[in-house]
Amino acid sequence: MGAAEERREQLKQVFREASVCTRCALSETRTTVVFGAGNADADLMFVGEAPGANEDKQGLPFVGQAGKLLDTLLGEIGLERGQVFIANVLKCRPPGNRDPRPDEIETCSDYLHRQVALIEPRVICTLGNFATKLLRRDPTGISRVHGQPEVHVLGTRAVRIFPIYHPAAALYTPSMLETLRADFAQLPALLAQPAPEQPEPVEAVPEYEPDDVTDAPSDAPADPLAAGAEAIEAARTPEDQLGLF
Ligand code: URA
Repeated sequence: MGAAEERREQLKQVFREASVCTRCALSETRTTVVFGAGNADADLMFVGEAPGANEDKQGLPFVGQAGKLLDTLLGEIGLERGQVFIANVLKCRPPGNRDPRPDEIETCSDYLHRQVALIEPRVICTLGNFATKLLRRDPTGISRVHGQPEVHVLGTRAVRIFPIYHPAAALYTPSMLETLRADFAQLPALLAQPAPEQPEPVEAVPEYEPDDVTDAPSDAPADPLAAGAEAIEAARTPEDQLGLF
């Protein structure tokens, strides 16, 4: 299996895990886990806030009004969804579209970090405050940092983070829409830049290997995915949900 195919398979595995996730209470109120969708080899990734009502029903990100605007803005710079990957900070809809809570963000961010590590985008566009604060690891608000690309190390890789306003916020505020459009116009040049310099690989720490298998915690399922096998079977396939795999 080639490296790209391998990454795709690993991403599908993360999808299967996320699609039956019960790590937080949002699993009790969601209809569908919205893992994210798009091209697993994308150079450009968008990260929004959380699924809304339409996304929760359809299992796909940005399918409502904000998504239409995102499609329009992408079209204006000659791109379409099939060329990018779109995900959210939270994979499940907060009831009534309330703001994500810090504990939910923390619990869910493992999925986003694994998505970033596998897709290896060159540029991550953070849409609005929640994605921007999480990925910049800084509480500065979007109005102060939008349109200013910065290189950050996420996991083991350096990536350009490009914060922009959330399309939902721009829908009803013409001045914000113009700013969003102007920031979007910077994307082609940003994507054309060489990949940021990568950090020196850290020497791998040998994994702990217990001599005696009885060291393993006895109540942990041997295969965490097998534990939810039936639910996974019932879930939509990655091909269905991820569109372009
Ligand atoms: N807003 C978001 O942040 N994400 C979606 O998927 C839809 C609306």
